Amino acid sequence: MRVVDVIEKKRNNLTLSNEEISYVIQEYVKGNVADYQMSALLMAIFFNGMTKEETAALTREMLESGDVIDLSKLEGVKLDKHSTGGVGDKTSLVLGPLVAACGGKLAKMSGRGLGHTGGTLDKLESIEGFNIGITEEEFFNQVNNIGVAIVGQTKNLVPADGKLYALRDVTGTVPSIPLIAASIMSKKLASGADKIVLDVKVGSGAFMKKLKDAEKLARAMVEIGDSFGKEVVAFLSNMDQPLGEAIGNALEVKEAINTLKGHGPADFTELCVELAEELLILAGIDNADQKIKEAIESGAAYQKFLDMVEAQGGNVAQIENDELPKASNIVEYYPKHSGYITHIDTKEMGRAAMLLGAGRESKDDVIDMAVGLISYAKVNKKVNKDEPLVMIHANGPTEEVERVLDNAIMISESVIDIPIIYEKIRKEQ
Ligand code: URA
Repeated sequence: MRVVDVIEKKRNNLTLSNEEISYVIQEYVKGNVADYQMSALLMAIFFNGMTKEETAALTREMLESGDVIDLSKLEGVKLDKHSTGGVGDKTSLVLGPLVAACGGKLAKMSGRGLGHTGGTLDKLESIEGFNIGITEEEFFNQVNNIGVAIVGQTKNLVPADGKLYALRDVTGTVPSIPLIAASIMSKKLASGADKIVLDVKVGSGAFMKKLKDAEKLARAMVEIGDSFGKEVVAFLSNMDQPLGEAIGNALEVKEAINTLKGHGPADFTELCVELAEELLILAGIDNADQKIKEAIESGAAYQKFLDMVEAQGGNVAQIENDELPKASNIVEYYPKHSGYITHIDTKEMGRAAMLLGAGRESKDDVIDMAVGLISYAKVNKKVNKDEPLVMIHANGPTEEVERVLDNAIMISESVIDIPIIYEKIRKEQ
């Protein structure tokens, strides 16, 4: 088989066979296919797409390029959740403990943040001593004993994705629905869970800017799950404004704790409760909504968070005594004029936090756990130019951040209506 023939076939909008997909991916991982040929194939896929069968075959080849985690040693239904990434998205920090407090088992492998979106691992590492690199045996024991563990992805999980993603990143081929779907689902399937809830973000802070595209991505991922015999439910949720109020590592951990205690921002709480309910239903746990309510009100959900922190070597006293890293300076940001917020450029809000040091521009940047934003800006909110709208937690100058905020938050006279969850997509019956 010649790679150039496979490229030409996809360029001509024909369907690739399983053998052709398998050959190209396997040989690419071995280093026998040049980056320029793979780039051409990725661009042909970007323009001509892939059928459901091609996308499943690509996912399988990627998944089988490395380790596949066997969670069968764990008792009960193993749950997982994934978000396509957004600003202020600290959902996993709440979902894991909340689901565990209601009797579910969430074995989660997470990633680090890059660019305007933060990563769960970075957030957790704002807790002194928190170890995201526990051994596989410790991971299994922890999930069995307390119901939740959040760890970093092992190095050899889907190596094909690491290689392909780096190439997509520099060849303008990231925003392709089959490529994103195969990238996400290969990692989720390799992580070994039985049932998966996906949170597909839509809006100015997300990969998918339009609801129509997010729906296609969600459907593609649900179909991949189905072809591997896994039940996958995808939510399409709003990323036209940051989720909750906190953007930045320690600030987001604090907000997650407040949410577990029942004092979180309304939009973030609603999303966490909906996703947790779906996970519990998938696990066959009855009265999920009632259990979630009780877990929050009784303090059991917060206690699970502390149990997880303790099990993974984190400093529980630091959390209990409100001693997570704090910035040296809190600057109040005022809106330019009074009125209603009509639009928030969420990606720019993420960039503002990154400029403070809360995120990475390139993968070796060191992040400052303490800095970030507490933003009260929500679409439709009535704002007054004499009341602070964003609290900038900084360890350095804030002028540029304030300029970014000036341009990111649009204020005018009218009001529009936006929901937190648009839709839920599951396999068609
Ligand atoms: N997240 C992933 O893991 N892969 C993509 O291609 C896009 C988002």
